[in-house]
Formats: sequence, structure tokens, C-alpha cells
Amino acid sequence: MHMKELSIPDKVLSLECLLRRLPETHPRYPEVQADYARFLKGYRGEKAVKYYLDFLSDKKYCLFHSLRLPSGKYHFQVDYLIITSRYALILECKNFFGTLFFDETFNQMIRTANEKEEGFQDPISQAKWHQQQLKNWLHSHHISLPIDYFVVISNPSTIVKTTPQNRQALKKVIHGHSLLNKIAEMDQMYRTEILDSRGMRKINKQLMRSHVEEKFDALGKYSLKTNQILTGVQCPECGQIPMIRHRGKWFCSSCGVKDKNAHASAVQDYFHLVNETITNKQFRDFVHLESEDTAKRLLNAINLPTIGTNKGRKYLKPRG
Ligand SMILES: [Zn+2]
Repeated sequence: MHMKELSIPDKVLSLECLLRRLPETHPRYPEVQADYARFLKGYRGEKAVKYYLDFLSDKKYCLFHSLRLPSGKYHFQVDYLIITSRYALILECKNFFGTLFFDETFNQMIRTANEKEEGFQDPISQAKWHQQQLKNWLHSHHISLPIDYFVVISNPSTIVKTTPQNRQALKKVIHGHSLLNKIAEMDQMYRTEILDSRGMRKINKQLMRSHVEEKFDALGKYSLKTNQILTGVQCPECGQIPMIRHRGKWFCSSCGVKDKNAHASAVQDYFHLVNETITNKQFRDFVHLESEDTAKRLLNAINLPTIGTNKGRKYLKPRG
């Protein structure tokens, strides 16, 4: 059963907006671009792993994508969590190309690609740390379920290496295509039924209830102010910002396209970059519109949830 479906992470969507609205000449542009590429790659790796997970029986396995649970003052987030009646399984997905070497002595992962060596945090230590935190979470909810983990390398052409002594890496680092076999091995290993169907429902409900969505503040992350990004409606055809309001439509002076609804994407961009609510005045400033009545009509037509009335009305980012 898919309890929490795979979806494009908020940080990928926010950075995609930021790249469209930050002038390419801005000194932080390359950094935003690099972060965007990295987050997108991570998401694509998770999506590739999902292909295999879709083969699992809905009845036996409950699947959570990007579950983020509290752990003391902090949170921890696992790429995939699988709950069964006999065990829980954490999957850390890694989407790397090149050759990965797992170094047990220094708890490090070294990636060699294009004749360049780079060190990364060891995903095995990361998975074990998540295992420990999940154990604490289960304990605090009076559930005792064994927890296991795998580091899943999503790119089939990535070469994985380690020393023959590094049993952990040999056992725990796997390629996506062997995931289903490894889960079958887990099923053989954990044979004691711990949760009945009621217990399963309960833990799934509690996990969903404890999940805290990560707030990603794209402007804050790069110390950007709203006046440093390009405001205005963006042309859906050529990407030009801003479009001009003319005879009830948005007009692009660059490619000549006319569009009735282009402001709706600008509101989405505002939600991703500036704030999760927007007032009539903020909307007018952001899309370069003068008429309060027009702004009201356009905003109402997008059908967003609202709070407050008249001048105090705020339009809200839709949930989920
Ligand atoms: Zn255009």
C-alpha cells in the first residue's frame, strides 16, 4: 500500500522557480543551479527505485516516501520506509555515476568519476543513524519492530567497490535491480509476526500523523531579498518576464504571445519563493498590475483557499 506517494520535492520546485526569476548574472546563480541539479538528481534516483517497489504486494508492504519524523529537537528524513507486519525497512537511495568506494576505516564514500576523486558522507552511517532514530520513534510509540536498511544505488551503471573485509558494505549496499531479491531475503530472515492488521493500521496512521513537511526557504538559503528576483508574469512560450496586461490578456513583447491565465503560474512562483499566502496588494506588486478590481477578479478565478474578508483577505497556497 502506498501510504505516502512519491512526489517532486518542494525544494526542487522552489529552485526551479528561483532559476527562472534570478538574473543569470547574479553571483549566487551558479550555486542555485548546482543545488537544483543535485536535488533533481536525488529525486530521479528515488523515482528509479520506485519502479522496483511498485512490484511489491500492496497487502504485505506499506510504503512511505520521504517521511520526515521528529527526533528530539530535530527531524530525520528517510527516502523510503517500508513497514511490514514483521519488520521495518529503511532505503537510502543514492544516485551517483562513476565508481563508488566504501571506506570502512574512515566511514567515507569516495566517488571517482572523470578522473576526479570526491569524498561524501558514508551512506551506510547515514542509514544506521536513521535506523537508530526510527528505533527511538517506535519506542516512544510503544512499538517494537526490528528495523533493517539498505543503501540503494539507483544508477545501474554505477560501479560499487569496497575491501573484502567490509562486510557491511558488501551486505548493505545494493543496486536497484537486486532490491526485490534482497527484500525477499528479509522476508526469510524476519519470520515472527509482530503486528496484526490492527497494529499495522495503527503504526501507519501514527507515522503519517508524525510526518512534518520540510519548509524550504529558497530566498533565505541564498540570502536573497524579494527585490533581487524578477517580478512580473512570465511568458509561457518564451520565458520572458514581465508580460504586459493588455485588453484582458497578458501580452509578451518578446514573442507576441497572448495568454489569459499566465498570472496563475506567477502566483505559484510567489508561493514557492516569497510566502505561502498572498494579498491583493502583494499580487498587484508581484505581477505589475494597477487595478485592485482586476487583481481581485484574477485571484478569485484561480480558486485558492482564502482567509479573512475584504482588504484583509489572504489567498493561500493549496495543500498537497
Ligand atoms: Zn514570449
